[in-house]
Amino acid sequence: MTTNCIQQPKESYKNRIFTCGLVAWPGVKHVSNKDFSPVIEAALKTEGFKETSPEKTILVGFGHDAVMSVAPVVIDAVKNGKIRHFFLVGGCDGAKPGRNYFTEFAEKVPKDCVILTLACGKYRFNKLEFGDIGGIPRLLDVGQCNDAYSAIQIAVALAGAFKCGVNELPLSMILSWYEQKAVCILLTLLHLGIKNIRLGPSLPAFLTPAAINVLVEKFNIMPTKTAEEDLKAILG
Ligand code: SF4
Repeated sequence: MTTNCIQQPKESYKNRIFTCGLVAWPGVKHVSNKDFSPVIEAALKTEGFKETSPEKTILVGFGHDAVMSVAPVVIDAVKNGKIRHFFLVGGCDGAKPGRNYFTEFAEKVPKDCVILTLACGKYRFNKLEFGDIGGIPRLLDVGQCNDAYSAIQIAVALAGAFKCGVNELPLSMILSWYEQKAVCILLTLLHLGIKNIRLGPSLPAFLTPAAINVLVEKFNIMPTKTAEEDLKAILG
């Protein structure tokens, strides 16, 4: 673990997890002075896997430069009705029940819509087949949580192309949260004036009722319901 996102490790793997830099956990070995030999030793000691799962290739790399390099094709597809809506399904993953919402949501997104993914939550569903719309992959992975900037740039560029605000785009943000970094990204989106974000599987516990009221009134933030209900509400 190099920066954050650690949670209490189970005893079953505590001796195979390491921290370095700012992260530490009681009882977990900390790598200092860039001496990674304990990590290498632990890796060499493991048995490895008995079976190899079938090979699977996942297309990645749709940062804003890559997406905007094909902007005319994407914009045409929206204008001629081939792409109805974009969904940004982004945020953290976590162990709490209810996070299957995001897989269900991605599976239920209609075939004429594109899903942009961002950060760890996508690992639940990015191995599924989503196909393409006239050559444009239906699942475009923008990157990790640190690439949220890229997603914002795509949204801003699309808004520029359609001569409207980001909130008027056929784009909905469905975000999962878990980590303080994700909360910072949410605050950035709010600072940019992005509205109608759906947040789940639960709202951050530190949000007081008064803070939730502000978020609802000013930004129309909504907790996720079920995948069906949310899709119906968004697509009408
Ligand atoms: S998406 Fe969340 S859990 Fe994943 S690396 Fe980023 S902050 Fe950590």
